[in-house]
Amino acid sequence: MSGPKDSFERTIDYMRISVTDRCNLRCIYCMPPEGLVPIEHKEILSYEEIVRVLRVAVNMGVKKIRITGGEPLVRKNVSYLISSIKDIGGIKDLSLTTNGILLGQYAQELVDAGIDRVNISLDSLKPDRYREMTRGGDIDMVLKGIEAAEKTGLVPIKINMVPIRGLNDDEIVEFARLTLKAPYQVRFIEFMPFDTNMWSREKFIPADEIKSITESVGPLTPVFMRKSGPARYFRFEEATGVVGFISPLSNHFCRECNRLRLTADGKLRPCLFSETEIDLKPALRGGAPDNEIERLIRLSIELKPQGHTLQDSDYRTRRKTLHRYRRPMSRIGG
Ligand code: SAM
Repeated sequence: MSGPKDSFERTIDYMRISVTDRCNLRCIYCMPPEGLVPIEHKEILSYEEIVRVLRVAVNMGVKKIRITGGEPLVRKNVSYLISSIKDIGGIKDLSLTTNGILLGQYAQELVDAGIDRVNISLDSLKPDRYREMTRGGDIDMVLKGIEAAEKTGLVPIKINMVPIRGLNDDEIVEFARLTLKAPYQVRFIEFMPFDTNMWSREKFIPADEIKSITESVGPLTPVFMRKSGPARYFRFEEATGVVGFISPLSNHFCRECNRLRLTADGKLRPCLFSETEIDLKPALRGGAPDNEIERLIRLSIELKPQGHTLQDSDYRTRRKTLHRYRRPMSRIGG
């Protein structure tokens, strides 16, 4: 069964589930220095509640699920959630996004639970800079996490990097070069504005510029990938891996957007950049039947906007307009 259609004829068959708003890092482009006040435990959906929502969604045609956060691996027993999701059946792709710090510890458990793939966020290969950008992270743990993911067969490994001008843009080439020898998918993601981060027009690097920087390594040939999502992929001659470019701002991909997000506190969010949310918790905790959960999921699909409103002119010239987006990534589920 194909997923439900929204008002703009897009098929919605992908859900990103944030299992926690907590994180073991404080990345400077994601959080303020003092961190964020965590959502109270009782407000966070239980695993049983998440699985119930997903069972209804999968029944409606959702096929692709990504577990995220916050940092999903800081929530206790996330493997139990993964195996419970796997037990629903009918899911084509079950993946997880992580900063990799705890991946060395959990990779095998995740595989045993049934995870298909992981995306690892890594914004610098320099230990000191990594520590500075993450406010305390130890890059060796991430490298061990990547190694463990490879060993346990969690491939292809996707590495997500957010280039920020004046901060880590001098490492774009080195990240691109990783694909020459390893079968990684190194994806460069445009720096996005949120209330809690240090975004500015000057720090923002459009995907086209990132791509032209990588071309100093060699010419790039476009690569068609069946499950490419919003990334445009390319390969250097004789490279084993690929580089990808994700341009939510400079060339947004709303026309192909197939996703809904479920926040850790139970809000269905049809668009990352719109504050519209449908709260599932009252229904989940108030004894509502599954058809009520389905109605709320359909409602959030109906409310999915045609596109986000961060238009070119906004991010190029009117910095202030960007700061109407309130929830930070770690609260939405990146
Ligand atoms: N903790 C996990 C991780 O680090 O992958 C999952 C959550 S994190 C919020 C998900 C992704 O959002 C990461 O790849 C991170 O780089 C990205 N992200 C956070 N803030 C961002 C921003 N302002 N612009 C672009 N990407 C951002």
